[in-house]
Amino acid sequence: MPIATVDPATGETLESFEPLDDAKVEARLAAAHAAFGQYRTSDFSERARLMNRAADLLEEDNAFIARTMTTEMGKPVKAARAEAAKCVKAMRWYAERAEELLADEQPAQADVADSGAERAIVRYRPLGVVLAVMPWNFPLWQVVRFAAPALMAGNVGLLKHASNVPQTALYLQDLFRRAGFPEGCFQTLLVGSGAVEGILRDERVVAATLTGSEPAGRSVASIAGDEIKKTVLELGGSDPYLVLPSADIERAAATAVTARVQNNGQSCIAAKRFIVHADVYDAFRDRFVAGMRELTVGDPADEGTDVGPLATEQGRKDLEELVDDALARGATALCGGQRPKEQERGWYYSPTVLADVTPQMRIHREEAFGPVATLYRVADLDEAVTLANDSPFGLSSNVWTRDDSDVERCVRDLQAGGVFFNGMTASHPGLPFGGVKRSGYGRELAGHGIREFCNATTVWYG
Ligand code: NDP
Repeated sequence: MPIATVDPATGETLESFEPLDDAKVEARLAAAHAAFGQYRTSDFSERARLMNRAADLLEEDNAFIARTMTTEMGKPVKAARAEAAKCVKAMRWYAERAEELLADEQPAQADVADSGAERAIVRYRPLGVVLAVMPWNFPLWQVVRFAAPALMAGNVGLLKHASNVPQTALYLQDLFRRAGFPEGCFQTLLVGSGAVEGILRDERVVAATLTGSEPAGRSVASIAGDEIKKTVLELGGSDPYLVLPSADIERAAATAVTARVQNNGQSCIAAKRFIVHADVYDAFRDRFVAGMRELTVGDPADEGTDVGPLATEQGRKDLEELVDDALARGATALCGGQRPKEQERGWYYSPTVLADVTPQMRIHREEAFGPVATLYRVADLDEAVTLANDSPFGLSSNVWTRDDSDVERCVRDLQAGGVFFNGMTASHPGLPFGGVKRSGYGRELAGHGIREFCNATTVWYG
């Protein structure tokens, strides 16, 4: 894949970039390694000062970086502005809380004494140079939610961003440099995915985090496994959205539309499979389909646009194949099911709801990375939970109910890294984020995220 900015609204290549050659990659690895030697000894207040400065700069740049993201990957510009603002919030959150989150832990005194020590603590020390392999769908947020905790913990970062968002990738390097982080603390490597193995095997790189597809995750995790290096993987999702008889159907349907089409449908935590109790199926279906039909599909640079183009031509092809396979095997398109007629250029796809989906269809088990929902009717909660768990993924889940016994059952039984009731899944700096099954492992955000790339060191005083 060439490293280039290609406008998904037109298909036009706006700017191409030469990948870094081996000598330049080596120089950046050396700079990262050297930076860690010093930076790891900096104190939290100094790191917080730099992180807050980066947040201030990003806040000033909001309109500029939002336009850049929209041009590079097609998200509606209002969503791009919200993404940049969320990054500012996360940077400030970690600047304020990192010291407390990584404070020395005191094991129980009885255990300390039993181990023969006078005193013992656990100290969270940084690991070193961490490689971040990141995707294009939230080109700022996915990186910041790694970079803010990693830098606050005293690690340094190397970013291999997706090849279609090079300007956002370069902006991020520049942001941390302008904020005053020492040279080498955060660098962007403009390289293709073929260069990742060599970088990951380099002994100066100690760990990796990847957000993206299953094949990319498998490749990075196998290489890291071979090298015995820590990884965090945040892969795809096909989150279930359960609507049960006691649900507020109006709100459930309105939220379902947003939950499915956010980011033009290209979000790992978008609700994708809508599993609805028979008692409320018709009412929910009618409102949901009407909401999907009402969306404004168009130029993502327009303020009124709800759904822009898919980020890549390949992405639209993959989505079309999934829908066409389902239609050929008997699914019914309640709306959409094809490219919109109004857009002649660009990689648009109509908001789509598919009913009569069966396990024989690819879309039943594969992730639909675009504005396509599948709708299932179930007889009871048992069937809903079984269907929700009938997926290789386990990122998050959503349940609409006002019944306490439904709540307990879903918290106990849904195989996912999150269960969100009466709302849609969204990430927040203070809540851990991550999945089970093929959605990956490890956690980002909150205290869990900042500790992933730390050495929890037992300090024992005899
Ligand atoms: P990829 O997983 O291919 O891309 C994500 C990142 O991984 C990019 O930086 C990419 O680099 C890199 N990469 C790809 N293959 C490898 C590899 N073998 N070794 C190391 N790094 C690699 O995602 P796509 O853009 O191709 O999207 C395909 C599908 O992945 C989507 O349809 C969706 O299902 C899923 N996805 C999930 C995301 C999520 O948020 N969980 C985000 C994006 C995609 P390069 O761009 O240079 O290829």
